[in-house]
Amino acid sequence: MLSIIIPCFNEEESIPLFFAAVEKIKKELHTEIEYIFINDGSQDRTLEVLRDLSQSYSHVHYLSFSRNFGKEAALYAGLEHARGDLVTVMDVDLQDPPELLIEMKDMLEVDKDLDCVGTRRTTRDGEPPIRSFFAKLFYKLINKISQVEMVDGARDFRLMRRSMVDAILEVTEYNRFSKGIFAWVGFKTTYLEYKNVERVAGTTSWNFWQLFSYSLEGIVNFSDAPLAIAFVAGLTACLLAFLLMGVVILRTLIFGDPTSGWPSLVSIILFLGGFQLLSIGILGKYIGKIFMETKKRPIYIVKESNKQER
Ligand code: UDP
Ligand code: MG
Repeated sequence: MLSIIIPCFNEEESIPLFFAAVEKIKKELHTEIEYIFINDGSQDRTLEVLRDLSQSYSHVHYLSFSRNFGKEAALYAGLEHARGDLVTVMDVDLQDPPELLIEMKDMLEVDKDLDCVGTRRTTRDGEPPIRSFFAKLFYKLINKISQVEMVDGARDFRLMRRSMVDAILEVTEYNRFSKGIFAWVGFKTTYLEYKNVERVAGTTSWNFWQLFSYSLEGIVNFSDAPLAIAFVAGLTACLLAFLLMGVVILRTLIFGDPTSGWPSLVSIILFLGGFQLLSIGILGKYIGKIFMETKKRPIYIVKESNKQER
């Protein structure tokens, strides 16, 4: 069986379109399908649409969160409830073309060693250039400073075998960055490339700053390089200070003590003060993560569902 996991946040218009599109290619998949829609605290009629759909079709299931927990939480909830030997994660806005599933499934059938077929956008048409620029920068950076390899343009849309899904479920951290977790669990993954598709209905729920802070999440969750940078820079500043101290003492001994150098002193104090605050800020980011992690709060809370626990 194939489980399709679909996080939905204010998607009343997209859901019927998505469902129709997948049902259309269903025959070519030659397998039983279950849908697991996750209503991530939508404010529109998403829940009603899902209730109706699940009443008409027995292979449609839904979970409805008690509030908006974010796409990452929705993904986790979906994976937890999926029963299929194959599991796929899709956006409901049809930016993940359902037709690709046929090819992805064939690839898994041909190559038994393969555990996962991911998808990768080769173009970023229809996206503001500044966003593409920062996205590129993010992937360059994260791949330098983190052990896991994150593929530029890779989407969450992927078809996985059960073994990989179980591995992902073992990763129970609260601060979830799926792109990183998918890469971190390992397993053999190939990427299918396709051209960017724009969403069919509704609007994206991400603005630039949300994406920016999402990328910071990625860095803090999957790399401790910022801490190391703060450490090395602090050490360098200390060594430099010692060196300068020596110079100042020697100069005073040789040339006496002319009181000058006020401006340079102020700039040094400002620089060091700023740098200390920055380092504390970096530390704070990580401590914040530890704080949230040690609370051991549930990743999501289901308010309503038509599905039993696995
Ligand atoms: N989504 C969600 N919770 C959120 C935000 C988004 O479940 O808090 C879902 C949304 O309904 C969609 C998918 O995540 O199915 C991707 O969202 P969107 O299309 O807004 O992101 P983009 O494609 O622009 O990156
Ligand atoms: Mg989208």
